[in-house]
Amino acid sequence: MESILAAHETLSSKANLSKALQDVDALISLLQNARDNIESDPDTTPLHIAKLKTPLKQSFDKIDDDLKEVNKGLNQYQKALKDKFKASALPTASIGSNASDGAATGLDSQRSLVERAIAMHLLREGKFDVASTFVKEVSAQAAGQDDPPRWLEDFADQEGGEDENMDEDEDGELDEELYGELGRGHLQRKFAEMYHILDALRNQHNLTLAIEWARNHSAELEDRGSNLEYELSRLKFVELYTSSPDDANTALLNALDYARATFPTFNSRYARETAALVTTLAYSTQLADSPYSPLFNNPSLWTSTSQLFTREFTSLLNLPSTSPLRTAITAGGLALPILQKVERIMSTSRGQWTSVNELPVETPLPANFMFHSIFVCPVSKEQGTDLNPPMMLPCGHVIAKESLEGTSRGKSRVKCPYCPIESKPGEARRVYI
Ligand SMILES: [Zn+2]
Repeated sequence: MESILAAHETLSSKANLSKALQDVDALISLLQNARDNIESDPDTTPLHIAKLKTPLKQSFDKIDDDLKEVNKGLNQYQKALKDKFKASALPTASIGSNASDGAATGLDSQRSLVERAIAMHLLREGKFDVASTFVKEVSAQAAGQDDPPRWLEDFADQEGGEDENMDEDEDGELDEELYGELGRGHLQRKFAEMYHILDALRNQHNLTLAIEWARNHSAELEDRGSNLEYELSRLKFVELYTSSPDDANTALLNALDYARATFPTFNSRYARETAALVTTLAYSTQLADSPYSPLFNNPSLWTSTSQLFTREFTSLLNLPSTSPLRTAITAGGLALPILQKVERIMSTSRGQWTSVNELPVETPLPANFMFHSIFVCPVSKEQGTDLNPPMMLPCGHVIAKESLEGTSRGKSRVKCPYCPIESKPGEARRVYI
């Protein structure tokens, strides 16, 4: 690794183009001078041309020398990289798909989805300018196609999708309003709002905007069983409490006032927690030694609250909390060594894998990369659907809605098929996966 770093250092300090650029600039001004002289007095043309000859050759030689240094540096860098990273073929997208029929495989066949994922990722990362340029370029390319990607409409905040035809003007150009700019996009506005609030929360430790947002979305958050509003208020309480160590009494009273005004709204769900928070006021002089110390000396509280805010904000947009593109690429990177091995074995044994879109091996991933998007009812063995969703019984066992209705028909109490616990049919809750 040291040799790579050393070569990189040489590239940036010595073997860069700055000397060559200077010399090219000097050459240009030499030529411009000569041109100006000739222009002002055309009779002297042969003289000026003759005078140029030697300096011109010297300049070119100098630039050549400058570039030699750069080439030397680049070669060293290339060699260092090659020595460190032995060349090995990367797996192609053909594994697991039947490429023999010549059809587009892997990412090529899903170009539109990949482009959409990239645009979404850029938005989610707050790179609005880049996202906007990307969407514009895809739109421009799509203008020449018979079947332009439909996702562009999402970025223009279009409702529904009844009309399968792209709107075209008389001259065949795409409707600028519909596909043209990201600025109309509902998603961009939402993410801009999210970043605005996150900046205040994460970088300035200012809770005002986040609390206001949570209050405005209180009902939706409550529906999700979210604890964001409570967490923000708790943080605000802690902040007031610890805000001015020089004037602890005022800080204490401010925190108490805040608790009185705000905590009663959380009584139904967080009565115990809020009571504990108020109790901390009794320990104010020995907080560090009290059982509540972790609450007040927790430097990661702002980070974790920011993460919670991001998760809740994106979930109200029906989006996962991390960019799907990031998840896919990280998972792909983790699985790469296995795929590489599979391809090597298949090529040496001339093995053929014919199942379309299926890999011949498992690619184990960490638990946070596991997504269980499918539920199969253990009773009926049927896959869950929106009409027949998984339902959790009070005992924690999950069966499909139709199976639950089947066992509970006409009865006021139903016994779980997997344990002895009985419950009322109405006590089962829908599980979202
Ligand atoms: Zn049970």
